[in-house]
Amino acid sequence: MKTLEIKDLHVKIKALPDHPEILTGVNLTLKTGEIHAIMGPNGTGKSTLSETIMGNPAYEVTQGDVLIDGQSILDLPVDARARAGLFLGMQYPSEIAGVTNAEFIRAAINARRDDDDPISVMQFLQQLDQTMETLEMPADMADRYLNQGFSGGEKKRNEILQLMMIQPAFALLDEIDSGLDIDALRVVAKGVNMMRGPEFGSLIITHYQRLLDYIVPDVVHVMKGGRIIETGGPELALSLEKTGYSHLEAEE
Ligand code: ADP
Ligand code: MG
Ligand code: MG
Repeated sequence: MKTLEIKDLHVKIKALPDHPEILTGVNLTLKTGEIHAIMGPNGTGKSTLSETIMGNPAYEVTQGDVLIDGQSILDLPVDARARAGLFLGMQYPSEIAGVTNAEFIRAAINARRDDDDPISVMQFLQQLDQTMETLEMPADMADRYLNQGFSGGEKKRNEILQLMMIQPAFALLDEIDSGLDIDALRVVAKGVNMMRGPEFGSLIITHYQRLLDYIVPDVVHVMKGGRIIETGGPELALSLEKTGYSHLEAEE
C-alpha cells in the first residue's frame, strides 16, 4: 500500500507574487485502494491542487508539504514524481506535434522503468491494442500526433488510455468528464473502474455529480476558497447536487 499525503498545503502563483494564495491549507490523505472525489465551484483551486501535486513549476508552495509514503516530493521535478507513482490527467491536455500517441505512451512507460529493462515492443503493442479496444478508440489514434486535432472527448479518452497503459499508483484526474457525451463518459468511467484495486488510488476532480454515478468514490471532499471545507461519503456528492455549494459558505 502507498500513501499520498497533502499536509496544510498553501500555494501561490509564481507569476503573481502579490496575489493572495490560491490554496489556503489543504489537508488530504489518499491511500492506494481508495478513490476520492474533490468537488467545488469553479476557480476554487482544484486544478491548482492537482498541478501542484504533479510539480508544475508555475505554482509555488509557500507552506505545507506533499508526501508519498512519508517522503516529501516537493523538491522533485515532474518526471521524478511520475516515477514515484503519480499521474496527472489534465483538464486541458496539451497537443504535441511530431510525437505520435503510441510513441508518447511507450516513452512514458519506459521513463518509469529501469533503463536496462524497457517494455518489449510486442508486449507494448498488444497492451495498447487491447486497451484501445476497451476504450472503444479507433486504432489509427495510436499513430496520430498526440492530441493534435483530437476532439475534447477523444482527448479525455486518450488521458484514460495513458492512465491504463502507465498503471500509476496515484492518478489525479482533473475534470475528465468535462465536455463528454454520455457514451464517452461511460467509457472513461469504465477505464477508471478497471484500474480500481489495491495498487491504485485516485483523486477525481469534478464539478458535477454525474461522473460519480459511474465512478463511485469512497470519499468525497468539497473544496472552497482554496481548502477542503467538508468531507463525507458518496452521499455528500448527491446532496450537493440538490443544494449547490453556497450554503456551505454560510456554515463557515
Ligand atoms: P478550479 O480548477 O477549481 O476551477 P483553478 O485552480 O483553475 O480552479 O484556479 C483557482 C484560481 O487561481 C483562479 O482564480 C484562477 O484564475 C487562478 N489561477 C490558477 N492558475 C493560474 C495561473 N497559472 N495564472 C494565473 N492565475 C491562475
Ligand atoms: Mg475550473
Ligand atoms: Mg480546474
